[in-house]
Amino acid sequence: MSARAADILQLSTEQSASPCGTAFHSALAGFRGAAANPSPISVQSCWEWEAGTRHKMGNRSMRVLIVEDEEKMADALRHGLEADHYSVSVAHTGEEGFYLVSTEAYDLVILDWLLPGRDGIEVLTQLRQRGVSVPVLLLTAKDATEDRVRGLDAGADDYLVKPFAFPELLARTRALLRRGIAETTNRLTVADLEMDVAAHKVKRGGRDLALTAREFDLLEYLLRQPGRVVSREMLARDVWKESARYTPLDNVIDVHIARLRRKLDDQSDKTLLRTVRGVGFVLGEDGS
Ligand code: CA
Repeated sequence: MSARAADILQLSTEQSASPCGTAFHSALAGFRGAAANPSPISVQSCWEWEAGTRHKMGNRSMRVLIVEDEEKMADALRHGLEADHYSVSVAHTGEEGFYLVSTEAYDLVILDWLLPGRDGIEVLTQLRQRGVSVPVLLLTAKDATEDRVRGLDAGADDYLVKPFAFPELLARTRALLRRGIAETTNRLTVADLEMDVAAHKVKRGGRDLALTAREFDLLEYLLRQPGRVVSREMLARDVWKESARYTPLDNVIDVHIARLRRKLDDQSDKTLLRTVRGVGFVLGEDGS
């Protein structure tokens, strides 16, 4: 190998390792301040995260929401997850977290139990009551069996007791997201509406529906968040993949929604796709 090639190799190795190391170490510094006795994390494991999957679904980063009132802990989690290529948002109160989960699409929510105002359990219970099925990893200092049971019964998918080692949080995050992705390949149903995503087929009351590719994508997006109000901004960003645009897509979206509604609901007694004035659209049985 020439000296020049060796220099370039050395440089590229340093460059690929350093962003993770920097983010990781600054995150760890904050983490140490927040947790009483965190387990040490090796730089080796940081490289392994870098070398691992990019945590992407299609061509977008997986979106994680952290709901945590302790700022140092929230910052440490955010930096660590961003270094691992997640797209991260942070809420510092239960109210803010509830609002964000209700209005934005996330692949995973990391939810602290003890929050000022509405606590994590209340937020989780209400989200599940409203049919929001996003995977939730509950963080807490409560370690008693009855607390774990209470957390899981409220609708948490997993539970991590503070203080914890960051690699364990990453491993649990990956496991929950894998489970989520596996579930997303299955059939999606709301009332008598069924979608087979792999076979690209949709039925309502046993009757086949012929949808265009865009209508199918739109319906799949709505079916993944049953009972939840989906805004035009969310549809523009996640279905049309256009968030920064000069002319609003609202009319285009409304036309597609109207066509989809005719195909879904015209031959059925029950309306499933409804407009929420001034907010967006919701797919689900009335009252769900
Ligand atoms: Ca807290």
